Parts: sequence; C-alpha cells; structure tokens
Amino acid sequence: MSIVGEALRQLRRKPCTVRYPAEKAPVPPRFRGMPAWDMSKCILCVLCQNACPPGAIRLIGKGPEAEIEYLMDRCIFCEECAEVCPKRAIVMSDRFELAGFDRSKMVFRFRKEKEKQPEPPKHSAPTANG
Ligand code: SF4
Ligand code: SF4
Repeated sequence: MSIVGEALRQLRRKPCTVRYPAEKAPVPPRFRGMPAWDMSKCILCVLCQNACPPGAIRLIGKGPEAEIEYLMDRCIFCEECAEVCPKRAIVMSDRFELAGFDRSKMVFRFRKEKEKQPEPPKHSAPTANG
C-alpha cells in the first residue's frame, strides 16, 4: 500500500490513545490502587503490618484508642496486606492519582470508630501506575 493510502486508512481509524487526564479511562479489573480499610471489620490483629514489605502499615496504641497508620509514600501497592487480612478488611481501590509534594499528607490513620477514611490528596499529574 502506498504511503498516501496508508495515511488515509489511518485517518479513518479511531485514535489508540486516551485523553487522560481530560477523560478518565476505567482501570482494568484487579487493578491495585491505594489500599482502603474497612475498620468495622478490622480486629487489629496486626497481620497486615507484619506482611507489609516496606513497612507502610503500623498499629499505633492499644485497645479502643488503637489506630492503623498507613504511610502511602512507602506503599508499593503489592496487595500483601489485603491477601493476609483474615477479615477481608482491606481492599485495593481504584485510586491511583496519589502523587504529591508533601509527604506529611500521605500519612493516614484509621480508628475502629472512624469507618470512613480520608480522601487521598488531589493531584493533577498522572503517576507511573496510572
Ligand atoms: S490484617 Fe485486617 S484485621 Fe488484621 S489489623 Fe490488618 S486490617 Fe485489621
Ligand atoms: S499494598 Fe503492599 S506495600 Fe502497600 S500497604 Fe499493603 S502490603 Fe504494604
């Protein structure tokens, strides 16, 4: 086929690229974004802390005051925490726009009483796994 013919053929095709971030494409099934805790299910057994390879999860305190601390800037999104949790209290969400300039905003604490976790920081730049 001639170059002109090929050019005309390509012009009739839909673009292969996506218009991110103007348009959000759905993430694929089994995508591993930011882990999300359902503290109503959590029994504070610390298995997720022990399983986390980079030490991104810490149990702080004891009893009703105990909190799970999640350090997003350390997380490698490996899903080990979700797999080891006996109560299925952790799921890998579809959140991936997590980059930021302030690491102090990448620390989240979850308590048994607080079942809703804070929203991740809002950013404009796509990340490597986005
Ligand atoms: S492994 Fe599950 S139940 Fe145990 S502390 Fe972590 S989130 Fe809670
Ligand atoms: S996804 Fe992996 S690195 Fe991130 S908190 Fe869970 S176990 Fe740790």
